[in-house]
Amino acid sequence: MKIVIMTKQLFLLFAVCITFSTQGQEEYARKIIKKLSSPKMHGRGYVKNGEKKAAKYIAKEFKKHDLNKFNNSYYQKFEISVNTQPKNIKLNLNDTLQLIPGKEFLINPNSPSVKGIFSTICITQNELLVDSIFQKKLKHSENKFILIDRYGFNTLSKSEKNKITNIINYLCYNPNPKHKGCVIFTDDKLTWTAGFFESSKASFTIQKKINIDEINKISVDCDSEYHENYQTQNVIGFLEGKSKSDSTIVISAHYDHLGRMGTKTLFPGANDNASGIALLLNLAAYFSEPSNRPDYNLLFIAFGAEEIGLLGSKYYIDNPLLPLEKIKFLLNFDLAGTGDEGIKVVNATVFTKEFELLQKINRENSLLKKIAPRGTACNSDHCFFYEKGIPCFYSYTLGGISAYHDIYDKYETLPLTKFTEYNKLIQLYIKQL
Ligand SMILES: [Zn+2]
Repeated sequence: MKIVIMTKQLFLLFAVCITFSTQGQEEYARKIIKKLSSPKMHGRGYVKNGEKKAAKYIAKEFKKHDLNKFNNSYYQKFEISVNTQPKNIKLNLNDTLQLIPGKEFLINPNSPSVKGIFSTICITQNELLVDSIFQKKLKHSENKFILIDRYGFNTLSKSEKNKITNIINYLCYNPNPKHKGCVIFTDDKLTWTAGFFESSKASFTIQKKINIDEINKISVDCDSEYHENYQTQNVIGFLEGKSKSDSTIVISAHYDHLGRMGTKTLFPGANDNASGIALLLNLAAYFSEPSNRPDYNLLFIAFGAEEIGLLGSKYYIDNPLLPLEKIKFLLNFDLAGTGDEGIKVVNATVFTKEFELLQKINRENSLLKKIAPRGTACNSDHCFFYEKGIPCFYSYTLGGISAYHDIYDKYETLPLTKFTEYNKLIQLYIKQL
């Protein structure tokens, strides 16, 4: 009788522990994502040292999980060139329409400083396709802003799209034409990027239905700051495996995002990629527990400067802290915050044996709805490792929210639908790799 009671009590205790640890994982993830996407982190970009604050926070978490340092530091520092807009940005049409940054317009992040009131010249995308009209308009554009009506772009043919994109790039970047800058009017979602050089022309994208023929002047005010040698960092920690083999599994995710556009517009980057860092730190927490120690060594890398061209991972591959040939496998996580439709795995069609194992573990434990295979794609920090012949996957969650590289990618609306299951899948996978 007593034994039965004990067993029942133990079972209850066990059940409570399981529930707590599962809840604990998601709770920890939420805490990390909330912190990393808060205004205090300034979008983890290059305004107000956002990326340094985020790196410091991650290093502190590494320390909590007792990860080992290299050369007495979790940081691997490197330099990049960046173009930023740290001060207030104003864009006004016809003296009457003040546009809302982030919501109604974006500045091209490579734009130089620009201030003043400029007259305009309008051109539709169909006119861009007719060389004679385009050249004629360009002739009369000196010191003006060219307004480009690009509404309905997605209904055009592929060749028309390519031609228009090339002409717009020419107008926005080529220093030779005499116009001051350009403004693209679109009905597409606004999607920002990071600036890495200073263009000779300022350009803006406006998402608002406006009859551009009625706009005859534009007032702009934007200060840009270009830094040729901006110091940023990867954050790296190491966990020794039980087997004492020198074979290492790398777990990576980028922590940087797009920062701020002006003083008021924040790009929080909750899904991209505070969520991937939350997964990485959860794995660090789990595997650093003595009872969960993996056989192989684990190298945790929170990459910097991904959004600006995968520069943190490029720096690491050129300056590895462990011999690259000791990497057994690399798992890179970017966009880990949904999962309603499962995950997609880049390189699944290359490393088929490893992909089958992932599928098998998922099936046996009924974790994610689907694990969809994808071929190679140089679209996140796994890319240079793959190019060096290192086996790797990059996985991202599917379904849920559509916010991406915009002001709406925030903690409050990030569902983390299948975070616990995703985390569990990767834990099991690392143990069996
Ligand atoms: Zn990303």
